[in-house]
Amino acid sequence: MTPRPLLARSLWLAPLGLSLIFVMGVLAWVRANEADEREQQRQTLISDALSTEAQLRDRIAEEQGHLRQLAQGLVGQSPSEAALEHQPAVGAGLRRLWQSVTWLDTRNRVLAEVSGRGEGARLDDGLSLHLTAPVGSDGTLVVRYPPALLLKRGVPWWLARKYDVQLVDSADQVIASSTESPLRAAQGPRPSYRVALTGPLRASPLAEAALTDAALELTLRDPGINAVRPLAWVLVAGFLPLVAAASWLTRRQMRQVQRAEEAWRTEAAWRRAMEDSALVALRARDFDGRLLYVNRTFCDMVGLPAERLVGQLPPMPYWPTDAHEEMTERNRRNLAGHAPREGYEARWQHASGRMLEVMVFESPLVDAGGRQIGWMGSIIDITERKRLEDRERRQVETLAHNARLTMLGEVASTLAHELNQPLTAIASYGAGVTNSLAKLGVQDELVLGALQRLGQQAAHAGRIVARIREFLTRREPRHETCDLHEVITAAVELLKRDCQRRGVSLDVALAPGVPAVLADAVLIEQVVINLARNAADALQPLPAPAGGRRITVSSRVAGEFVRVDVQDNGPGLQGRRIEQLCAPFYSTKAEGMGMGLAICRSIIEAHQGVLDASDVASGGALFSFSLPLNREPHPEAHHV
Ligand code: ADP
Repeated sequence: MTPRPLLARSLWLAPLGLSLIFVMGVLAWVRANEADEREQQRQTLISDALSTEAQLRDRIAEEQGHLRQLAQGLVGQSPSEAALEHQPAVGAGLRRLWQSVTWLDTRNRVLAEVSGRGEGARLDDGLSLHLTAPVGSDGTLVVRYPPALLLKRGVPWWLARKYDVQLVDSADQVIASSTESPLRAAQGPRPSYRVALTGPLRASPLAEAALTDAALELTLRDPGINAVRPLAWVLVAGFLPLVAAASWLTRRQMRQVQRAEEAWRTEAAWRRAMEDSALVALRARDFDGRLLYVNRTFCDMVGLPAERLVGQLPPMPYWPTDAHEEMTERNRRNLAGHAPREGYEARWQHASGRMLEVMVFESPLVDAGGRQIGWMGSIIDITERKRLEDRERRQVETLAHNARLTMLGEVASTLAHELNQPLTAIASYGAGVTNSLAKLGVQDELVLGALQRLGQQAAHAGRIVARIREFLTRREPRHETCDLHEVITAAVELLKRDCQRRGVSLDVALAPGVPAVLADAVLIEQVVINLARNAADALQPLPAPAGGRRITVSSRVAGEFVRVDVQDNGPGLQGRRIEQLCAPFYSTKAEGMGMGLAICRSIIEAHQGVLDASDVASGGALFSFSLPLNREPHPEAHHV
């Protein structure tokens, strides 16, 4: 399998990456938003501070106004507490904000003083602020008021709720605060803004410490922004592990899918390779006989592309046109599930018109759920096998026919040979008797006629025998250049199956470079077959000897001859000589005719050769024949 590109392998990281980008985006957005909000808060804070400062200033200016009016009202009066208390503005001022009203002379000596008992007096615990107004030209009125009360009265409630409003001196000391418990320490840095408020504020001209650089400071009580960020962090902290877990799960899932896909691909490739390389044609059909699938071998077999075949219903394009009815009938039988288990033979037609013989095996086609959905057919092309079988059968028939003819010829020859003598004897005796009767002067026409007919009949019988022999042995050996090895190989080929069946191994050991001989290949083949078959016959009834039943056919050049040996490891000849074995009708087999070796000998001798037989020292028999090398055949060739 080729390694997949890095990009494809790390695709599962994409959601995680995207989530990270998203989270970063959200965080950046939160930050930007926060900065915006802070800026806005700052703006509001500044404007609130300025407006507070303005309001305080107004308030002080207002108080200053009240004081100035009071001072003007006192011009010309003698300074006394009673004179002060008599003024309604003093009471109103003390109720409002003032702590005390002091009347000073030009040298700042107290002439009269009135103190309040209101809230201003209660807050008299630290630094006080002052307002002054001249009383004519010979005194000054000084009003003392607590900065805390100024803040309380001068700062609107909604600002006081939103901000800690404080008066701070140059040393950062809080002079007064709108709240009793400032939150500064508890809640870290909070946005605040300072506005100088020195102008309208006066420290007491009586006190040593002067309030020089006082400022108004507004501090936001609850910035509200900080709450967003932790929440964002919590969300991100929760979100990222979740996304990471989801990505990991995705990756696992992807791996599983990948593995399954790889397995599937491998299997598909295997299956395709197997199907395509198979010598067996495959076809799948549903119960209606519709072709669902065909492999390449099937297409090649019938000479049609898969597209033409798949989906096709019977009659099939590969059915021979002359056998539609028979094929339809058989198809019905097969689809009903009655096809023979051991397969059946059929005749199909290739798209080119050529006929082919096939062997078909049907088996149930089962889907993934184990349900049968049709039939799977495996088809083997047996055309060639059939042809070979046919040829072999014909060869064997021809051989048997030839063998029978040869044997009959031999029988006839032997009979003629055997009968010729008695017939000649009969004819001579007849002639002798006729002569004797003539000498004796017997003129009996009847006897003489009978004797004459006797002679004629004997001659006739001789002729009939001769004719039959002639008829049966018309086949003269054809001496042609023939390759002995080819002849032996052909003979062994014919015997091989028979030997296998009998459990006999038939080996061939041919010496190289054996020249061609002039011989009748068919007859020599018969000799080899006969000798090998005799050996197999001798071996078969015995328990197999050590090393198994074995026949070896070998060849070699010996002087002017080629010699062929057929050796077995059977019982051997037990001292019998070739003459005895070759005698016509000599056989030790229950159904033997005893002509085989006789015929072999005639054939070999007709080729100027010699047939011989001997026992093998290690057990078994050795039959051999030799044929002269490229010699002209004898002019009076044997009649076989
Ligand atoms: P048939 O095969 O009809 O018996 P044959 O002439 O071919 O006639 O053989 C004659 C006899 O020779 C056989 O019956 C058998 O006894 C003997 N014979 C032939 N070949 C062998 C052999 N290889 N081993 C032992 N005996 C053999």
